[in-house]
Amino acid sequence: MEIKDSPVNTGLLGALEAGGTKMICAVGTADGTVIDRVSFPTGTPEETMPKMLDYFGNKDIKALGIGCFGPIDLIRDSATYGYITTTPKLAWRNFNIVKAFKDALNVPVGFDTDVNAAVLGEAAFGAAKGLNNAIYATIGTGVGIGVLSEGKLLHGILHPEGGHILIARRSDDTVKSSCPFHDNCLEGLAAGPAIEKRYGKKGFELADRPEVWELEAYYIAQALVNYTLLLAPERIVLGGGVMAQEQLFPLIRAQFKELMNGYLSVKALDDLNSFIVPSALNGNQAVLGCFMLAAKEQ
Ligand code: ADP
Ligand code: ZN
Repeated sequence: MEIKDSPVNTGLLGALEAGGTKMICAVGTADGTVIDRVSFPTGTPEETMPKMLDYFGNKDIKALGIGCFGPIDLIRDSATYGYITTTPKLAWRNFNIVKAFKDALNVPVGFDTDVNAAVLGEAAFGAAKGLNNAIYATIGTGVGIGVLSEGKLLHGILHPEGGHILIARRSDDTVKSSCPFHDNCLEGLAAGPAIEKRYGKKGFELADRPEVWELEAYYIAQALVNYTLLLAPERIVLGGGVMAQEQLFPLIRAQFKELMNGYLSVKALDDLNSFIVPSALNGNQAVLGCFMLAAKEQ
């Protein structure tokens, strides 16, 4: 599809939300307008790159923002900046995704994690609008967190890997962790595959089993308490497939309150209904954040 009416001032921007199962490509503008959006299944780079380059190639985008599954190298002066690094998706391991797009499209490319892009989108347009300190956590096939701290995306030596923080296993939960690295990490105990392993059914088939969501909330709440104590966010936004179970929200808030046990007396925690919230952007949070990554790179 050819985009004809490009806005004059900022120009059209490209967004790529690169995920383990699908690649969402979109064009839009930095004011949060999505003009067009498509997705391709994530095959190998050889299979998938041409489709994405074909998509962006005729759109006259001024810059591209990539929000990518990790781990990725975000350190600007690193020899492997722009690479997807030790991902279990072997075909993408050590693939320089930034260079691949830069070379082919000849535009500036912004690059961050999918969840950092999502927190940027939520802080600009969604459930964390106007906040300088916010966390976006996705609970899906994996668990990841994006952190906005003092108005900047947190990177450090890599980027936050909040899915792999260690949490306490409930004593009656004896199912093997779904994470090959950790027996007791959040992702290993609470991501979609962990639920499936524990109950032999997918999350959406377990909607009417309260015990599933009680345990899930216990694990997620532990992580949120830890994130709150360490990163002091003004709000935590939760997304990802598992969070489609809306009954999780009140359960998580209740467990959070119990685990925090009154330790922090700050205004942000007075009303947990507005501290722990669902995404407000209908699945476009990372795409909108990618437009911002693109705009910043221009
Ligand atoms: P990904 O993490 O791969 O980008 P999702 O965020 O959609 O994708 O997460 C997929 C995971 O979420 C799967 O493990 C799936 O079983 C689970 N999931 C998807 N929809 C639901 C639902 N309605 N209720 C509970 N779990 C769900
Ligand atoms: Zn782990």
